[in-house]
Amino acid sequence: MRRAVPTAAPFLPSTLTLPTLRNAAASCTGCDLYKTATQAVFGEGPARATLLFVGEQPGDQEDVAGHPFVGPAGRVLDKALTEAGITRSDVYVTNAVKHFKWELQGKRRKHKKPSAGEVAACRPWLEAEIHVLEPRAVLCLGVTAAQSVFGKNVRLNELRGSSLTTPLGNTVFVTTHPSAILRDPDPAQREEDYRRFVGDLRLIAKYLQRPHPNDMAHKPTYPTRDR
Ligand code: SF4
Repeated sequence: MRRAVPTAAPFLPSTLTLPTLRNAAASCTGCDLYKTATQAVFGEGPARATLLFVGEQPGDQEDVAGHPFVGPAGRVLDKALTEAGITRSDVYVTNAVKHFKWELQGKRRKHKKPSAGEVAACRPWLEAEIHVLEPRAVLCLGVTAAQSVFGKNVRLNELRGSSLTTPLGNTVFVTTHPSAILRDPDPAQREEDYRRFVGDLRLIAKYLQRPHPNDMAHKPTYPTRDR
């Protein structure tokens, strides 16, 4: 017998709001990742957020805490947002995959990249978050996030540095994941990667300064520091 394609779609609530989505995602068994994770880690941020940032999946600390971007990558993101002049509390942060995928390395739970099938299975949650929030821009942090938002395999470096349109119909920017910056063993390269990351965030801050029909509904806009 053919196995059904894994998907979160049947677990979506009939009324889409951030609280109903978060509540429903907690019981999602749309793919196998729920079996080994502590809990689903849904997106967080204000319902009127102007920006929606998408990472790959919760890390070890996020899996335990139940909140996205609270580990080392979250600290890099916080610092970079401050440097770019964007307030984190005005950004909704989420992940392409809501459960932590890991493998044991010694006594440590080591992050394991989600498969294309798992990313596709979890995509209905991300689609619903974007649908509910209607952010002015979506930022993909890393290739897995971009894969989910674009609905296909993409090359990060070909997409960085400009705003793009995706099947989800939003203005999308692409950058690296803060964890990738942390993983580089060379301090000089790490610093260069971090500077480029801040540059990508400044590009978004600049984009938000443009007039927008929903400006009255989407506040605040962000000043940039490179004026
Ligand atoms: S990773 Fe996504 S699709 Fe898979 S069980 Fe978790 S919430 Fe559901």
